[in-house]
Amino acid sequence: MNRSRSAAEFERAKKVIPGGVNSPARAFGGVGGTPVFIERGERQYLYDIDGNRYLDYIGSWGPHILGHCHPKVTKALEEATKLGTSFGAPTVRESDLAELIVELVPSIEMVRMVNSGTEATMSAVRLARGFTGRDKIIKFAGCYHGHVDSLLVQAGSGALTLGTPSSPGIPEGCTRDTHLLEYNDVEQLNAAFDQFGDEIACVILEPVVGNMGVVVPTSEFLSTLRSRCTDSGAVLIFDEVMTGFRVSLGGAQELFGVTPDLTTLGKIVGGGLPVGAYGGRADIMKTVSPVGPVYQAGTLSGNPLATAAGLATLTELRDSNPYPELATKTSELIEKLSAAAQKHGIDHSVAHAGSMFTLFFNPDQVVNYTVSARNQTDRFAAYFHGMLDRGIYLPCSQFEANFVGAEHTEQDLENTVNAATEVFATL
Ligand code: PMP
Repeated sequence: MNRSRSAAEFERAKKVIPGGVNSPARAFGGVGGTPVFIERGERQYLYDIDGNRYLDYIGSWGPHILGHCHPKVTKALEEATKLGTSFGAPTVRESDLAELIVELVPSIEMVRMVNSGTEATMSAVRLARGFTGRDKIIKFAGCYHGHVDSLLVQAGSGALTLGTPSSPGIPEGCTRDTHLLEYNDVEQLNAAFDQFGDEIACVILEPVVGNMGVVVPTSEFLSTLRSRCTDSGAVLIFDEVMTGFRVSLGGAQELFGVTPDLTTLGKIVGGGLPVGAYGGRADIMKTVSPVGPVYQAGTLSGNPLATAAGLATLTELRDSNPYPELATKTSELIEKLSAAAQKHGIDHSVAHAGSMFTLFFNPDQVVNYTVSARNQTDRFAAYFHGMLDRGIYLPCSQFEANFVGAEHTEQDLENTVNAATEVFATL
């Protein structure tokens, strides 16, 4: 497959953009080689600037559950553009979108729009701290909540280990109150709450993890989280930036029947435009400025294009309900991929929830960061490039979720399994 124009553009980009990319996950850092420069997307396909076509399992890292350029989303955007791109004043569509989010996401009574998932989690943590008057927060190793200073803590172990920042530029003071625990570890969680439960402002987690590959929570883990937060007065935050409107219409909280106090949203809620949101219990949300004292603002928040794309996307998802079919397609795909890997003697495990899935080059079931860190990333790199050369565009890291979309056909899935079978034979 010729990608010479992508290669040339990458050289050009690297001179003026750090690493040639505007977000590190695009840089092929873990797999080597040159990122593919995309010219356009159409339904389930991406077309690069060399004219190659790929079946897209990234969907812009989550938003495009309806495929690229969905006619209803495009139309809504076109109409909104003609009326002006930003006013810095309230618009009717903001209430339309807020009402729809409140209708669809079980725990959300009030919601505030922001411009990215990072902003959503940053604001939710601030709100939890402001609401409780406490400083300590708990996060789990391997969960990603955007590049918020206090949440950029991934490494480390032990129930009560104090967080150390995983990027230079974050003063230790910013992460001093971030306590890092292992995902799915009920004992560690109980120990933390036993020791300092009344000092915990919030616990934040991905209720299905996508950012160490897909990791599904145990029901005991979720129920312990809920009960310990309730008993201690800590705010339970589900970071549903990835899982919201993805694992089911109402997100992971609907799928598992667990009710968080606050929820963060992003990706699908913006229909492919830069959007985030946070919402939840009305008594907590009423602590946000200008009603309450917790300050949070945004020049472009709730802007007309973003709300148009978000509203069109969520409306279409509600009306067409693609979720049962998405779940079936995804479990069939992952079963077939697993069988093909098995046939070729490839050590692997699989995980999926709704239309998110990961094939781990790891014989153990991945339940947390420690197990995920044992993935065979060299093998993944070979698999990734083998698939790319066969026109299948997967996330360029073992530690990511793959996304099946409403436009993926049975034939697409079969082509994917055939390509994977060929690649497995070469590993
Ligand atoms: N939370 C989760 C669970 C995410 O997956 C992401 C992004 N992948 C974020 C937060 C941050 O969102 P954004 O990149 O829009 O800032």
